[in-house]
Amino acid sequence: EEEIKRQWFVGSIDQGTTSSRFLIFNGEGDPVASHQIEFENLYPRSGWHEHEPMELLSSVEECIDKAMGKFVALGHSKADIRSIGITNQRETTVVWDTTTGEPICNAIVWPDTRTKALVRELKSRKSADTLTDLCGLPLSTYPSSVKLMWLLQNDGAVKQAYEEGRLAFGTVDSWLIYKLNGGAQAEKPIHVTDSTNASRTMFMNLHTLQYDDKLLEFFGIDRTKIHLPKIVPSSDAECFGRIASGVLEGVSIAGCLGDQSSALVGQCGFSPGQAKNTYGTGCFLLYNVGDKPVISKYGLLATVAYDFGGGRKPVYALEGSIAVAGAGVKFLMNNLGFVDESRLITELAESVDDNGGVVFVTAFSGLFAPYWIDDAKGTLFGITQHTSKGHIARATLEATCYQTKAILDAMEKDSGHKLESLSVDGGLSNSDLCMQTQADISGIRVDRPAMRETTALGAAIAAGLATGVWNELADLKEVNQEGRRIFKPQMDRAVAEKLFVKWEQAVEMSRGWVKV
Ligand code: ADP
Repeated sequence: EEEIKRQWFVGSIDQGTTSSRFLIFNGEGDPVASHQIEFENLYPRSGWHEHEPMELLSSVEECIDKAMGKFVALGHSKADIRSIGITNQRETTVVWDTTTGEPICNAIVWPDTRTKALVRELKSRKSADTLTDLCGLPLSTYPSSVKLMWLLQNDGAVKQAYEEGRLAFGTVDSWLIYKLNGGAQAEKPIHVTDSTNASRTMFMNLHTLQYDDKLLEFFGIDRTKIHLPKIVPSSDAECFGRIASGVLEGVSIAGCLGDQSSALVGQCGFSPGQAKNTYGTGCFLLYNVGDKPVISKYGLLATVAYDFGGGRKPVYALEGSIAVAGAGVKFLMNNLGFVDESRLITELAESVDDNGGVVFVTAFSGLFAPYWIDDAKGTLFGITQHTSKGHIARATLEATCYQTKAILDAMEKDSGHKLESLSVDGGLSNSDLCMQTQADISGIRVDRPAMRETTALGAAIAAGLATGVWNELADLKEVNQEGRRIFKPQMDRAVAEKLFVKWEQAVEMSRGWVKV
């Protein structure tokens, strides 16, 4: 039996903010075939950020097709794929019509700030300050709840579907699982979400892992009118259904994790006190706090880290979310034309010795953790005649490192524990300069695995655990340990502290910008 097991593979759909991927991992956790497709991000107005739900789906299906083609060319077959997992951008809000299975409008993507005024109004309500204790999140433009509420108030077709009982809500995991199972055409349509994704909606009680009527009522959601996804554990062989058509027809979906949870799992951060930071479009630091949620006093979020079911207790995390990380690199590339490819930003930043006094608060979507300033705007300080593109490139990379340092400080206060090392991954973690800067500014070791598809690996682990590829967490001890690179702090602490003080001054000055 061992012999057979060793040949099992697990697929992983990684549906991110800028691209979709499908990877196939072997039992050692190594990717053997993969495919990635970038899709279009829509910015129809200032502060608006949308995706086409059908394009998210078709990009995933195309990735599956192409990656399976490569897998088969290696001499394997569909029968070798034991199950697949799904990981996804979180909070992004999709609504569809249950009668047709078609989306009603574009998805509102997580950094979208169109809900700013709505959030201001909600914050002034009497019970607003009781929400965080229930769901772990503060009121901001970030969670799905305010995005759904905005759609119900501003999109006539959404409102009508709601009044007629045809409206389905879901985050991207729910949407993909529903469609991959055959959507409205399925004999029994599957509408589920896992508790890590549900913990980002603001509708779920963090302690019971079920919808909370107080939360739904606060956001004006009538449960009898809307189809909400059923909340289930992140690892399960039954409840996510099976792929209905295409090259993986009949293969079971057995794992589902929000992307940041998935990266923590992919980094094997299974012990309390372990933390990971993923530098993608945004940047998200998750710190494992064990089997009881910790509600932050210092601007962090409480969230479900993973929930493997089968009698295992759910595990919680403290999270520091940064809206703009790699998105800052994309901004320099697409809006300012600094470079043609993301990876070239490091070279440009290395063309100068330091930031030359330039600080860039990349608050394109307000500032998230630990500051939570909804009306902050991107603000560039310290420009002189001497300032070059290199200085601005450096300041862009540093912005994420400073915010990570602020989050680490908050985490230390909330947990009473100082982190010794930070496991990292995500697109921007490819930049050695950025990772060295992170170690320098925060004064802790940065530990980067050679295989950086940790987000995808996490969902594969969730699926593999439910389907016998791995039986327990101890079976994963060897996974992704080879070839890790450590960045040690080298900068004088006093210098680092001075730089950080300057950053915090700049943050204060980024507040309260309104368009005239
Ligand atoms: P997501 O899952 O959010 O789509 P990824 O982890 O794929 O994000 O990272 C993509 C982001 O990382 C993009 O914003 C891109 O500009 C940036 N990025 C990717 N590779 C590099 C690199 N070598 N150097 C700097 N930035 C990079």
